[in-house]
Amino acid sequence: MERSIVIIGAGIAGLSAGCYARMNGYPTQIFEMHARPGGLCAAWQRKGYTFDGCIHHLAGSGSGSKVYEIWSDLGVFERHTMVFHDNLVRVELPDGQALTVYTDIDRLEAYLKDLSPADAPLIEGYIRAARRFLGFDLLAMPVATPGEMLKIVPRLPTMTKWGRITLDEFGARFQHPLLRQAIPTIQYDFPEVPVLIHLNFLAGCHNQTLGWPSGGSLAFSQTIAQRFEDLGGELAYRSRASKVLVENDRAVGVRLEDGTEHRADVVVSACDGHATIFDMLDGKYADDRIRAYYDAAPDEVEMSLCVSLGVARDMSDAPHALTYFLEEPVTVMGRPHDRLDVEIFNFDPALAPEGKTPVKVLFKAGYDYWKGLAADRARYDEEKQKIAETVIAQLDKRFPGLAQQVEVIDVATPLTIERFTGNWRGLQAWTPPAQMLAAAMQGLTRTLPGLKNFYMVGQWAGGIGISTAAISGRNLIKRLCKQDGEDFTTGV
Ligand SMILES: Cc1cc2nc3c(=O)[nH]c(=O)nc-3n(C[C@H](O)[C@H](O)[C@H](O)COP(=O)(O)OP(=O)(O)OC[C@H]3O[C@@H](n4cnc5c(N)ncnc54)[C@H](O)[C@@H]3O)c2cc1C
Repeated sequence: MERSIVIIGAGIAGLSAGCYARMNGYPTQIFEMHARPGGLCAAWQRKGYTFDGCIHHLAGSGSGSKVYEIWSDLGVFERHTMVFHDNLVRVELPDGQALTVYTDIDRLEAYLKDLSPADAPLIEGYIRAARRFLGFDLLAMPVATPGEMLKIVPRLPTMTKWGRITLDEFGARFQHPLLRQAIPTIQYDFPEVPVLIHLNFLAGCHNQTLGWPSGGSLAFSQTIAQRFEDLGGELAYRSRASKVLVENDRAVGVRLEDGTEHRADVVVSACDGHATIFDMLDGKYADDRIRAYYDAAPDEVEMSLCVSLGVARDMSDAPHALTYFLEEPVTVMGRPHDRLDVEIFNFDPALAPEGKTPVKVLFKAGYDYWKGLAADRARYDEEKQKIAETVIAQLDKRFPGLAQQVEVIDVATPLTIERFTGNWRGLQAWTPPAQMLAAAMQGLTRTLPGLKNFYMVGQWAGGIGISTAAISGRNLIKRLCKQDGEDFTTGV
């Protein structure tokens, strides 16, 4: 008889594991604490607007990527078309100068050289490196065949070279003042990211393997949840797991907060790692390495304060991604900010009524800051309101009249993320300390020491990203099939 599986969490990892489990005949139940699927891959509706909290770029959006096959298995392309932008971002300075990072690499090269002939050698090196990643998908490595993995070998010198330079450092090499200022900001708000990561993004956008699924993050998650149910999986919402049931160091099921117990041959955690290891399993299966990882949790995380605005305005002429340098820095959460990173959802009509546009601005934020404020609900709400007003006032300078057109304001903090996804301190999995990097690449907690029949998938088992989460779910089921001496099938 097939082994039965229970999965905790209907984020992308849990849903992917569930779908592949059903494709391979395993009786499978998923327990999800929220009323909706997706976890971090989420959106929320307010007065006709859909505020998307997640996807900027979905790896595997085009057939040039191996991850494409996974999304095909999960039913994504039956319900979603992919949107590919012709630029990554537009950076604007207060004096009117602007840089557009085109996703067509040839166009980008010509444009940059035209902008700054003096920087031509630097631009050529950058473009040459980006071209090295065409036809190569770093994000798909966990599902690559040995032959595909070999493609990495000739690229190793380029990867090493560009893996050592941050965008900040790279920007400083340019002579043109606009490029010096703008380059560090062109990969979301991550100036410290190695240029290598940016180059992979650029190549993925050029290849049209990085895109946006129509309808956005929640619709995307709902599609995969539907696939799971169509495959005969059982998905229970509003079902929060509180314990992993263990007998003789063997996981045998889960207990939910309502006290019900659900037994299975295999237990999979696709939810927060800290809660799984230290609450549901009382820390009994954590070794020093695991403890060291969780002890190194950051307080502040990029993109964890999300200001969403519903704007009664057709913004189809505006850039979809805008880094907007301000005339004067503004204070947000007690810190000066010299720019806003703005997303304008003018490329997907499903997200707002005609003639209206959702707009989002993200900030790096700290959990303790918001936890401190939350002790006094009025102060917490006041701070959210103050930040929204600051953002609106600045956007009004770039888009005159916008302040009068804002009809919905929504501010999500790290506490909101914690409440809706169960992720400890509102965090996503973080890069481990350098000495643990190699172990983490292997998946720090795909299993826990001393505990049988228990597995973890998703961000806490190794690597963030929607595609990484889906890959980890798929790879676990492949592993279970191998243990059971069965062929792994991906058919529906
Ligand atoms: C602002 C932002 C932007 C991002 N942009 C991108 C992007 O453009 N591209 C990309 O690839 N990635 C992006 N990511 C990263 C990506 O969203 C995550 O890496 C990925 O969604 C993680 O999926 P997961 O299934 O591992 O975990 P989660 O999404 O955290 O899912 C965990 C699930 O478990 C549930 N759960 C938790 N506790 C319990 C419990 N006790 N019982 C039952 N259920 C429980 C949660 O409700 C949730 O549904 C972004 C993330 C953020 C925050």
